[in-house]
Amino acid sequence: MFEKILIANRGEIALRVIRACREMGIKSVAVHSTADADAMHVRMADESVCIGPAPSTDSYLNKAAIISACEITGAQAVHPGYGFLSENASFAQALEDHGITFIGPKAEHIRIMGDKITAKETAKELGIPVVPGSDGGVADFETAIGVAEGIGFPVIIKATAGGGGRGMKVARNAAELEVAFRTARSEAKAAFGNDEVYIEKYLQKPRHIEIQVFGDGKGRAVHLGERDCSLQRRHQKVFEEAPGPCITQAMRDRIGGICADAVAKIGYIGAGTIEFLYEDGEFYFIEMNTRLQVEHPVTEYIFGVDLVREQIRVAAGMDMSFGQQDLEINGHAIEVRINAERLPNFAPCPGKVRVFHAPGGLGVRMDSALYGGYSIPPYYDSLIGKLIVHGRDRPEALARLKRALSELIIDGIETSVPLFHMLLAEPDIQNGEYNIHWLEKWLEQQFS
Ligand code: ADP
Repeated sequence: MFEKILIANRGEIALRVIRACREMGIKSVAVHSTADADAMHVRMADESVCIGPAPSTDSYLNKAAIISACEITGAQAVHPGYGFLSENASFAQALEDHGITFIGPKAEHIRIMGDKITAKETAKELGIPVVPGSDGGVADFETAIGVAEGIGFPVIIKATAGGGGRGMKVARNAAELEVAFRTARSEAKAAFGNDEVYIEKYLQKPRHIEIQVFGDGKGRAVHLGERDCSLQRRHQKVFEEAPGPCITQAMRDRIGGICADAVAKIGYIGAGTIEFLYEDGEFYFIEMNTRLQVEHPVTEYIFGVDLVREQIRVAAGMDMSFGQQDLEINGHAIEVRINAERLPNFAPCPGKVRVFHAPGGLGVRMDSALYGGYSIPPYYDSLIGKLIVHGRDRPEALARLKRALSELIIDGIETSVPLFHMLLAEPDIQNGEYNIHWLEKWLEQQFS
């Protein structure tokens, strides 16, 4: 087992990894930018190294500085968290070249899944159902119109190199397609440095259902059921739950089995998430994330496992501590993402937190790097915490979430907490009846 792990991240996810390290008796090294000298992850780690100035390109994305920090501190492995370098194949490769273990999948698997067209082709070959659409990239409008007429409008144009909910355009007819195709390509070029786009059927009322998978890199893999992440704003998740309100055990066994077999076949190592859109009983692959996800705690709650501990174990060459037969769902879990942003337009709202009081009690988990007196720097993501609750069933989890939110105090800045108070009063949320468009429509009704 490793003696020392460096965490190439900040915020709540850095704390999450430090906590797992501490429970495993592993020393932790935090890295930070000059803007984060007072951050909680720096305070909590056993050691810390400043790796550059505030902009993340100069610090949290600075591969050379992170590798130097490993060498200075003697860290044998790097946990990348999510975001930043977590899905950067060349970073994983560079670590390996320096004899440092990347706690995540092989560079090759990151590369395959990072390119959306290759990912979709690979998924198809592995027997995973995909959204109908173009075979690979679409180079010109004539081809685009041919594909769209073949699968039927509406269609969605996506950037091959896209991510984070960006680089997607919907077209409902040929005229819209002409404009959307042109703008999608130029926007993709500007945002991702690659103008390749592809086309998919635009599903009208799907749910976003993702399957958590885990492999040991030696050909064994399991699935840990699904998460329903359909409540999204601008393709960004805000509320996630497990199990999915519309997924039966038979459906879970089927799609979960397909996913576990697929990752076992490629010798995948560590945590991964295969994302689907789900409509009328059918699953359609959209992408795979080759890392730990923000919403992993809901899965941890219902299966009683520690996914970070497991990532560290397999990275160190150990076997997984559970098999498929050990994984049984217990109860229901919900996560809400708390952002430093001002409603109704969700403008980022960093600043000084005067008072922070986290909720507690049975079935409540607060993953946050906030503390009273902390100044949230303006340079990074607006996620400042995740509140996760667990109950014996969905109604109990909802009641617990409402109770926990009422205890939470974040004073001094504006946050997305009022949004969740409002959402919990909605019958559709109480009944689990929502799809990926529900939140945007609801926000329009509430705030226009
Ligand atoms: P990203 O990598 O940017 O997150 P995804 O491919 O995972 O992009 O898609 C993000 C979200 O966009 C999905 O959760 C869904 O809300 C929407 N979306 C993607 N593909 C489709 C589609 N074919 N039809 C309808 N909505 C889609």
